[in-house]
Amino acid sequence: MSEGKYSSVLVIGGGISGITAAIEAAEAGYDVYLVEKNPYLGGRVAQLNKYFPKNCPPYCGLEIFFKRIKTNPRFNFFTNAEIENVSGSAGNFEVTVRINPSYVNNNCTLCNKCAEACPAERQNDFNYGMDKTKAIYLPHDLAFPMKYVIDPLTCKKMDGCSECVSACKYDAIDLNMQPETMKLNVGSIIIATGWKPYDATKIDNLGFGKYENVVTNVMFERIAANNGPTGGKIVRPDGKPVKSIAFVQCAGSRDENHLAYCSAICCLASMKQATYIREQNPDSKVYIFYIDIRAPGRYEDVYAKAKQDENIIFIKGKVAKIEEDPTKSLVVEAENAVNGEKVRQKVDMVVLATGMQPSLSEIKIPGLDVKYDEYGFVTGTDGVFGVGVASEPTEVVGANEEATAAALKAIQVLRR
Ligand SMILES: Cc1cc2nc3c(=O)[nH]c(=O)nc-3n(C[C@H](O)[C@H](O)[C@H](O)COP(=O)(O)OP(=O)(O)OC[C@H]3O[C@@H](n4cnc5c(N)ncnc54)[C@H](O)[C@@H]3O)c2cc1C
Ligand code: SF4
Ligand code: SF4
Repeated sequence: MSEGKYSSVLVIGGGISGITAAIEAAEAGYDVYLVEKNPYLGGRVAQLNKYFPKNCPPYCGLEIFFKRIKTNPRFNFFTNAEIENVSGSAGNFEVTVRINPSYVNNNCTLCNKCAEACPAERQNDFNYGMDKTKAIYLPHDLAFPMKYVIDPLTCKKMDGCSECVSACKYDAIDLNMQPETMKLNVGSIIIATGWKPYDATKIDNLGFGKYENVVTNVMFERIAANNGPTGGKIVRPDGKPVKSIAFVQCAGSRDENHLAYCSAICCLASMKQATYIREQNPDSKVYIFYIDIRAPGRYEDVYAKAKQDENIIFIKGKVAKIEEDPTKSLVVEAENAVNGEKVRQKVDMVVLATGMQPSLSEIKIPGLDVKYDEYGFVTGTDGVFGVGVASEPTEVVGANEEATAAALKAIQVLRR
């Protein structure tokens, strides 16, 4: 164990876990640097329609954090930023951070004139590719910080375009903005890099990528969201109404060929999503195909409530395959594990409850000597702590608790 020189904390990842850990450490009186690769804070929670246990919109919770961030001078954050290298050890880390250009400065008034003039389009990753934005875009309507950015991969400036610059009356766009590199000295590091949805195209028998009206659970959150691609109206990707829907649990999870572990939240997420459709269309029918329902602790209430609705039908059985009929509806085939009968259920739309894979499953933090388990979840090392879904599959409440505990651990390293 080494004696530490530095008295600040680095947090990598600005989702709910990273924000919580960083603000708790800052409010305890320590300087914190938070590095987020997206142009906004909030992570995957910002992409949810509502979140359990209270089923409130994510911005109810996030806004409170943003207020705390704005009023705390010890909380420093960098969006569009990534770690280039980490060296040193507990108490004495040296970190190189690269801040990628957003090409838009703080003069931006959000007037949208630039996007109106822009000829180039990009897939909207906030809506999981279900719609498009211009190459200059506002990441989403509640983004923090609230500022337009340019996607350099689709921008046509190399072809001589500068339409956005001419359209902006506020001199807010600088197409020559360059990346910046910054050195930080920190005593401890919290890794809060979260998760990515498991790639459903790898699951051959469930029709994702093959049948238009098979979507994933993360896509369904966006379809149900007022600021999503359909303005919150739950329709199929082909635009037709949804009267019946099937949720396929453990889609790729608890399966040695895909994710061998349980993501812990997918059963609860599907039961929550069942309420989206049931509230919007009281005549709708929901079929939840499951192996086991995982609703631990007080979340048992969510399960009990869902079972009270006779139009939410739970079928214990692993889905063997999904087929499309000529109307682009789907037929879900499974064996009912309770009575042994073969089920062939026709529905308008299918939602695959895919699991959460750690963001660091393939690409690690450069230079940082930290241990990961076989799936890429961070197990930590002296002075480095994994929190939230970077360390294990968990929901928001669990992530917040872990992040608060990690802030304390990180502070203890500074005070050795
Ligand atoms: C369909 C679905 C529905 C869900 N619904 C609910 C719900 O209703 N209630 C609930 O409690 N939970 C829900 N969850 C779980 C919830 O999304 C997670 O608990 C939550 O996102 C965990 O937050 P996090 O900060 O750990 O990770 P994330 O939200 O993934 O945030 C991680 C952040 O780190 C950033 N990052 C990643 N890599 C790097 C890097 N190398 N450098 C810098 N930044 C990086 C990311 O851009 C992101 O901003 C749901 C999950 C799914 C799949
Ligand atoms: S960059 Fe300029 S044109 Fe675009 S939204 Fe901001 S102020 Fe308006
Ligand atoms: S330079 Fe052209 S393509 Fe690039 S963001 Fe501006 S208007 Fe769009």
